[in-house]
Amino acid sequence: MSDEEPAENISGGAAGGGRAAAFDPETAGTRAEAVVDHLGDLYWTKTYGGRDAFECLVRTILSQNTSDKASQPAHDELMARYGSDGGDVDGEGDSDDTDLARALADADQAELAETISSAGLYNQKSERIIALAGRICEAYGGEDGFDAFVRDSDPEAVRSTLLDMNGVGPKTADCVLLFAGGRGGVFPVDTHVHRIARRMGLAPADADHETVREYLERDVPPEKCGFGHTAMIQFGRQYCSARKPACLDDPDACPLAGHCDQVGVYPASGEVVDPAEAE
Ligand code: SF4
Repeated sequence: MSDEEPAENISGGAAGGGRAAAFDPETAGTRAEAVVDHLGDLYWTKTYGGRDAFECLVRTILSQNTSDKASQPAHDELMARYGSDGGDVDGEGDSDDTDLARALADADQAELAETISSAGLYNQKSERIIALAGRICEAYGGEDGFDAFVRDSDPEAVRSTLLDMNGVGPKTADCVLLFAGGRGGVFPVDTHVHRIARRMGLAPADADHETVREYLERDVPPEKCGFGHTAMIQFGRQYCSARKPACLDDPDACPLAGHCDQVGVYPASGEVVDPAEAE
């Protein structure tokens, strides 16, 4: 539920240099856009882009299989110990300008695991982060080179490079493209988005993650995709959960019921199935 999450979605970051979008359901060109516009009424609006790509990658790995609430302290601890504000590592009495990728590539795994322990799966995550950092240092010379690659290269090239990294799946790759590259038109599909888009009828009931992404990126204007992604996740937690969508007991309980086909949701019998298994 939303009260377990931070008041603000931390994935996008406050320092975004990206775009802000206006949300008006009356002028939406497609049903998917109208859904995102209504989500704009329900949740906050924010801008995207401008985050450091490597930090964004680390953040999304920390958040895998856990909530933002649990991964945020792990991220803060990691940045305090290994980031550029991590203090006086060389003992010269100043605050060192550390390259985060280099510092993590050289990190002691047990120490990193302990630093990020609040995020869960800390052994696996610390191994992945150290391996990724090493690879990024080798290929791009460190954090700045990688950030420039994500920011300036062709999005498909960035996406396939990211997907080739151990521990980086389509959602993580798209989040990095969206939040770090500031790319419009990227609608990452996680388990909530996958479920809701098919339940509502915004994508075919049997569509896989990639197909749902194609439908949403076709139908939602580029500047609204980032917000649509984060807001749909919040909506999934708050209203349209996997087992108990709000409309199951009360048809008026869901603010988006007017846009929804309720694929696989049967209020009469109280049953819920995956849309792919719906009659
Ligand atoms: S009407 Fe039900 S199935 Fe449709 S979006 Fe709302 S809660 Fe989900």
